Amino acid sequence: MKTLGLIGGMSWESTAEYYRLLNELTRDRLGGLHSARLVLHSVDFADIERLQTAGRWEEAGKVLAGAARSLEAAGAELLLICTNTMHKVADQVAAAVSVPLLHLADATADAVRAAGLRRVGLLGTAFTMEQDFYRGRLASGGLDVLVPDTDARALVHRVIYQELCLGVVREESRAAYRRVIGELVAAGAEGIVLGCTEIELLVRQEDSPVPLFPTARLHAEAAVAAALDGR
Ligand code: GLU
Repeated sequence: MKTLGLIGGMSWESTAEYYRLLNELTRDRLGGLHSARLVLHSVDFADIERLQTAGRWEEAGKVLAGAARSLEAAGAELLLICTNTMHKVADQVAAAVSVPLLHLADATADAVRAAGLRRVGLLGTAFTMEQDFYRGRLASGGLDVLVPDTDARALVHRVIYQELCLGVVREESRAAYRRVIGELVAAGAEGIVLGCTEIELLVRQEDSPVPLFPTARLHAEAAVAAALDGR
């Protein structure tokens, strides 16, 4: 079993979910008392969010690259950035270490293709929905990506930072997300990528008429497969 290195804390609400999923998936595969071998470097999300809002991505990348180096030094053999948004600096992080980085958008695109789908709606932070680092990576993975309209993107973004990253799960926000999902499906989405690792804390499969692709879970599944099977 390989030792995983998690760059987490963005937010810790979803990193806690990663920790649970990685351990459950490892136990399911190996049985008994088996659990995941991993090292976690958890940042102060307030620092990262400030850099995101100021557009200081290079500096945020330096923080994550430092985290990656510390994980490698601690014995990590495969790295995960536990947030979709911070994959904006994935290349900077990967360049700082000699161990591989398991890219979240690749794990997601693989899962969508394996389900036989191509056209997906993408929910995430404004950075993820509007910039190319994530949509482009999904497109290179063979997907056709739709995003919500301007007002819906603002709503989805606001709920992530003002509620989900603070551990607040509101029924009203779930209803709002259901409406946005409905609009994406009406526009032709065959599946919905929950492209922010906190969204799966709010939205479940029963909230959508088409298959959901929860990225923290998909990332954890790909990581356990890689750790156990060398894939
Ligand atoms: N965890 C979220 C994501 O997957 C948002 C928090 C962040 O900006 O990193 O994008």
